[in-house]
Order: sequence, then C-alpha cells, then structure tokens
Amino acid sequence: MQKRVDLHVHTNFSDGTFSPKEVLSYASKIGLSCIAICDHDVIDGIPPAITLSETYNVEVIPGIELTAEKQGCEIHILGFYINWQDGQFQKKLAQLCRQRIKRMQDMLDKFKALGMPLNMDEVTGIDKEGSIGRLHLARALHKKGYTQTVDEAFKKYIANGKPCYSSKINLTPEEAIAEIIKVKGVPVLAHPAVMGKDDFISSYVKHGLMGIEVYHSDHNPLMTARYEKMAKDLGLLMTGGSDCHGLGKARILMGTTTVSYELVERLKNARR
Ligand code: AMP
Ligand code: FE
Ligand code: FE
Ligand code: ZN
Repeated sequence: MQKRVDLHVHTNFSDGTFSPKEVLSYASKIGLSCIAICDHDVIDGIPPAITLSETYNVEVIPGIELTAEKQGCEIHILGFYINWQDGQFQKKLAQLCRQRIKRMQDMLDKFKALGMPLNMDEVTGIDKEGSIGRLHLARALHKKGYTQTVDEAFKKYIANGKPCYSSKINLTPEEAIAEIIKVKGVPVLAHPAVMGKDDFISSYVKHGLMGIEVYHSDHNPLMTARYEKMAKDLGLLMTGGSDCHGLGKARILMGTTTVSYELVERLKNARR
C-alpha cells in the first residue's frame, strides 16, 4: 500500500482545535504514515507530537508556518525539518506571538468601535502568550452571535482589506525565509493561490526559497497544474497538505490533500 502524507497540519497551539494527541490519533485512524506539524509562528505542538509519534505509528516532521507581509499581501512561508530547539528561533517566535497579541487588541478595538465588544480572554487559545489569530477571533464572533458563520466573520470584517482587519505583521517573506534557513529548515511557499502574487515567487527563490506547496485544500485542479509547472520550471520541490485546523474550519481536512512519501524523501534530501 502506498504511504500517504499530509504536510500541513495545525494543532491547538495555534488556530487548530485538535491537541497534538488528537492530531496523531486522527492521522493514525485515517491511515496517514507521516504528517508535518506546521503551526502559525509557534513550535509548541512539535515536542508532544514527536513524543506520541511512535505510539500512533505516524512519522512527525517538525515544521512551522511563518506569517509575513509584502505590499499589503499576506504571505505564508512553511519551514520543514526546522531545528525547533534553537533558542534564538524560539525568541523570534515569542516576539511574533507578542505582535499577534497587539494586532488582536487592534482588531478588538475596531470591533468595539462598531458596537461588537469582545475581551481578549474570549479570543485567546490554550496559551495566553501563544499564537493567537483571526480564526480564534472569527470563532469568537460567531459564538457571540455577531455573525451567522465563521466564514461570514472573515468575509465581512477580518479578511485582508475588510474594516476590522489589522495588518500589524512585522516580518517580510525574505526575513521569514532567512529565519527558516538559520534553523536548517527547508523553506516552502504555502498555498500560493491564496496569496495570489505569482510574480513575487522568483525573487523568493533568490532569497533561498526551495519549494512550493503545490497541493493544498484551497487549490483547484487548474491552480495545482499551474504551480506544478512553476515548480518544475524553477527547479523547486513540491509539497502538499490539507492545512487541517481540526474542527476550526467547516470540516476536518486532514488527509483530504495528501502527497506520496517520495516527496518526503526529497524534502529530507534537501535538508542542510
Ligand atoms: P492570521 O494568522 O491571524 O492572519 O489568520 C490566518 C488564518 O485564518 C489561517 O488559518 C487561515 O486559513 C484562516 N482564514 C482565512 N480566511 C478564512 C475564511 N474565510 N474562513 C476560515 N478561515 C480563514
Ligand atoms: Fe491557521
Ligand atoms: Fe496559511
Ligand atoms: Zn496553515
């Protein structure tokens, strides 16, 4: 039987709803042989996932998804096989999480001004100093009855460019790539179709980008074909994953976008 792999999974240390144990248990239940834990700007889900890897017989790749911004565009950079134990890297992530809290406060102020008050406590995840993001906020808005759905919270208020969006992100994609390289990770551009700025890609390659997330739950077949070709033309690695957020999205996505184990071997060979 072919080994299937999901190279983009979140835990509740960022904006997923599954604990590392629930992630591993679900991965094992659906027959995945390997997953990459790629939380937004935080590594805390990695050690417990690695500890449980043997019990559930699911290989765990330590990863990250760094949020960056360029010309008002959000750009996510994945890092695979990062040395997550690096102290400087952990300090940098703590700084990014502090910025996330400030950005959340900024967004909460905007909601307050619109007559939709929410406290920080209502939006924080399991760790008050951890990685807090718009999916937490969207879920809180929905729970409070301010919106009918989580999706509506994004569409009406907090998607990029909407009235309560805050763009306080102080990392450029080039810096994100450099941070990943510093901890010997393989930097890969996440869900390029969601970012929608293909003309940036070749400049990232000059800065050390090594791959593109060609396969993603938000990519349709046309998009996938476009990025497969781009990866081939630019000599980049191809990765793929579901971007599962547990029950945070409309359904559990884990395993809905998978790649073959051969891509993992290529990633391993690309490690520094
Ligand atoms: P942040 O890290 O705070 O910028 O928030 C990004 C998160 O919001 C990612 O997990 C995205 O997948 C999620 N997101 C963006 N748009 C939507 C949407 N329309 N519905 C649900 N989640 C979304
Ligand atoms: Fe997320
Ligand atoms: Fe992302
Ligand atoms: Zn993600």
